[in-house]
Amino acid sequence: MNTLTKTLLSLIVLSLQLAAFDTVKVAKDVYALVGDLGQRSPQNLGHDMTSGFIITKEGVVVVDAGGSVGDGRAIHAAIKAITSQPIRWVINTGGQDHRWIGNSYFATLKGVKIIASQACKADIAKRKDFQMAMARKHIKQAFEETNATLPDTTFTNHYTLPTPDKKIELVYTGGGHTPGDIFVVLPKEGIVFTGDIVFHQRLLGVQPGGGLRWIKTLEYLRDVLKPKVIIPGHGAVTDLAHAMHDSYDYLMMLKRGALAGFKKGAFDAVEAVEGLDQSAFAYLKNYDDAPFRSKNALKMARELEKSAAQ
Ligand SMILES: [Zn+2]
Repeated sequence: MNTLTKTLLSLIVLSLQLAAFDTVKVAKDVYALVGDLGQRSPQNLGHDMTSGFIITKEGVVVVDAGGSVGDGRAIHAAIKAITSQPIRWVINTGGQDHRWIGNSYFATLKGVKIIASQACKADIAKRKDFQMAMARKHIKQAFEETNATLPDTTFTNHYTLPTPDKKIELVYTGGGHTPGDIFVVLPKEGIVFTGDIVFHQRLLGVQPGGGLRWIKTLEYLRDVLKPKVIIPGHGAVTDLAHAMHDSYDYLMMLKRGALAGFKKGAFDAVEAVEGLDQSAFAYLKNYDDAPFRSKNALKMARELEKSAAQ
């Protein structure tokens, strides 16, 4: 193989590696950026999730900043391939690393506002050092130049973007996977970006004390927002039924299982969910991680134990 061929081959490999996600048109001016279902890596630059963007006459709204400066740059390149409109707003839908670490890139652009719920900003402030360290460990050299950059604009429960041609509402109802998770709602189109409130096709992870709030927030999605189309935080674009099955039904299975264990006289949370059969969700990515599954059940049982004691 001559040097030129080698160089060309390595360029092809590099460009394949740079494809951290697929750009999927969901509706006119509404796009999803669907990334890996697996772990953060140097190849996906921390885009092991689904995010997106919305084009308005006032500029582009980016829904989730990505997992590194490189991911932020890749998101911007995907936007530039579709529109020449500048980015005006970046929404962090939650406090998980891949929702906000890319702020480090977007904050360098002129005239960009980075918006999150107050609860989300507080969560990021609390966990940023740990999250940065973990992301650096997974993304390696490609994580260089990335700094922890917090959102600059916050709201409590409700925020409407100043985009008269497209109604875009940010809605906080108490959090989901993380305490500050919000919905980005396009009421006219019947589309909701859910961030980490919906895990589709991938087993979700319960945070300590974070199971019951998540159930309530998913009930809000089902009963109040009732979208036709869901752009989830993980997995392909889907509908409400599939989103609810992969996220809500799984959480409810954990809750019912733990409650049944306590009813049978379990001595503690560990005993309440010992041997809980989760196999109805064996089709989800990451299901094979048995310790992860068991921890989900245990966290739910501990939370129920605590709420019963109060
Ligand atoms: Zn996530």
